[in-house]
Amino acid sequence: MTEREAALWFAFRGDGILVFEDAPVRVPLAGGPDELGLDILFRWEIGDLNGHACWAVEVGADARPPEGMVFEDLRGLFYRVDEDFFRMAGRAKQIVGWHATHRFCGRCGGKTEPASGELAMRCTLCGTMHYPRLSPAAIVLVRRGDRILLAHSPGFPQGLYSVLAGFVEPGESIEEAVVREVREEVGIEVTNVRYFGSQPWPFPNSLMIGFTADYTGGALTPEPGEIEDAGWYTADDLPRLPPKISIARAMIDDFVRRHGPDSEELQTPDTEPV
Ligand SMILES: [Zn+2]
Repeated sequence: MTEREAALWFAFRGDGILVFEDAPVRVPLAGGPDELGLDILFRWEIGDLNGHACWAVEVGADARPPEGMVFEDLRGLFYRVDEDFFRMAGRAKQIVGWHATHRFCGRCGGKTEPASGELAMRCTLCGTMHYPRLSPAAIVLVRRGDRILLAHSPGFPQGLYSVLAGFVEPGESIEEAVVREVREEVGIEVTNVRYFGSQPWPFPNSLMIGFTADYTGGALTPEPGEIEDAGWYTADDLPRLPPKISIARAMIDDFVRRHGPDSEELQTPDTEPV
C-alpha cells in the first residue's frame, strides 16, 4: 500500500489510547501521522483490521488529543469494544509500552535505537538487541463436580470473582505453575491439568495460558494479601464475573454451557476433601 492510503492509528499516550469521544469506540482513520497533528515518537505496523492497515503509535506524555478525541485507558473500553479491536489495540499497547521502556540498554546503559526491519531496539554502544518481553501467566478454572472455584482479589472491582491466575516462574513448566499457584493462593491440590486456550493480555505484557484442572483435596485457605475470598459456585448461582472479552470469562462460560441448567451432559461426581 502507499503511505497515503487511509490506515487505522492506534496511538497511545502512556496507557491511554486515542479514540473519538462519541460512541461507538473508534480510532482515527488517516493517511499519515501528520494528518492527526500529533508529535509521534515511534510507530510500527501491526496488521489489518476491516480492510485497513493498522499502526501502533507512541506519542509524547504532553500530547494533546485532536478535537473530538480523547486518550482513554484501554481497561475502560473492555465492555464497549469487540474482540478484534481489543486484540489490535492490545498489540499496539504492548509494542508502544515496550518501546517506551527500552530507550536505554539494560546491559550497559547506552542509548538504543530501532533496529531496521524487525521489532527490536539495538544498543548504540554494545550492540545488544532488545526484543519485546512477554510474561506468560497460567490461568486456571478448577472444577469440583458441578462447581467451580472463583476468587476475589484485592485489586478487583467490588463483588467481582474470577478464576485463579499467576505468572510462570523461571525454570517452571506451565503445568507446574498451575499446580503451584492454586496451592499457594487457596491451599488446595489439583490434578488433570488440561489446556483450554490462550489470550494476549496487554496489562502490561502478559500471555494468559488457560487450563482446566480438577480438585483433589484440601480446604480452601485464601492467601492473605492475594485472595480476599474464595468459594465453590454452581453454574446457576454465579457472582459478578469478568468481562466477556477475557479468557477468564470464556472459561467460565464454557463451564456453564456444559454444566448449566440447560445442559444435558452428565455431571461428574464430586470429590470430597480428604
Ligand atoms: Zn548496551
